[in-house]
Amino acid sequence: MSIAIIFLFIGTFPLQNAAAVQKDQAKLLEERMIIYKNIEVITNIPWYYIAAVDQYERNIRKVRKDLPDPEGILGIYFPPEKWSGPINPNQADTNPKSILIFNGIGMDGNGDGKADSNNPEDALYTFANYLHKYGSDEDNLEIGLWDYYKRDKAVGIITGFAKMYKAFGTLDLYEHHFPLPLRANYSYRDTWGDARGWGGRRIHEGTDIFADYGVNVFSTCYGIVELKGWNKYGGWRIGIRDINNTYHYFGHLNGYAKDLKIGDIVRPGQLIGSVGSSGYGPPGTSGKFPPHLHYGMYKDNGKTEWSFDPYPHLKLWERQTRQKARARN
Ligand SMILES: [Zn+2]
Repeated sequence: MSIAIIFLFIGTFPLQNAAAVQKDQAKLLEERMIIYKNIEVITNIPWYYIAAVDQYERNIRKVRKDLPDPEGILGIYFPPEKWSGPINPNQADTNPKSILIFNGIGMDGNGDGKADSNNPEDALYTFANYLHKYGSDEDNLEIGLWDYYKRDKAVGIITGFAKMYKAFGTLDLYEHHFPLPLRANYSYRDTWGDARGWGGRRIHEGTDIFADYGVNVFSTCYGIVELKGWNKYGGWRIGIRDINNTYHYFGHLNGYAKDLKIGDIVRPGQLIGSVGSSGYGPPGTSGKFPPHLHYGMYKDNGKTEWSFDPYPHLKLWERQTRQKARARN
């Protein structure tokens, strides 16, 4: 085998693999959408709420060690005591009648006579039916969600997901974009976890992308604007939560995109503000350090939130954004 052929083989294999993964993902999303819409027809709960709950639970399970990893098509998970009833002697009960007697939540959604928490239709039907007791309009759905999760943040995240699914009419909201224009003059390196002095001992929870004042800052994802305003460390900043329940934080901005407000839906590549040097003092403080975008990423597990290193993601999105721009030309 010549070197050229070996190179070709190594070079193309991962690409084909990536395309196959993408195709599998598209098929999976299609299958999920069919189930969500079926449940909407049976229960009157809008598909985007059902999809939002399922997605919230999928994300939580991926990052929590005390919950089983999501298997199969759905993310929603019912602990056995919730499904079959807390004092049900058979915690693997699939009989709808005995589950009902023991005050379990589990129901039969696909009409096979069994209430199986591992069956997608049974699981989603059960949840949608629970919500339906509260009503199917948005205010009542939020009350139902609060009663179930007992956490304001969970309700906020789920209603945000529902808003995004409704607005875009698709489950495929995973695209990302580099936060600065690729043609701008910028530089960044991996400094996550470095010590930071100002305002007490802290670690650096992000990546600093150095660029001139006024350079455009774009949303890195499909998401909901969750935070906008001043903080003595971050200056003028914006926080956006994406469909993976990752929180994207943009700090030290010079200003915001016109009309952008909390609760707005944004797309990857949408203008949200510009690079500045705001922060390290009372509102309006600027120029205490060279202009840069402080970009942070945070993960939520249903209980707490923590920072992780955005640098590898920025590198990936920079490459993907460049490839997309080339493909358009
Ligand atoms: Zn920073």
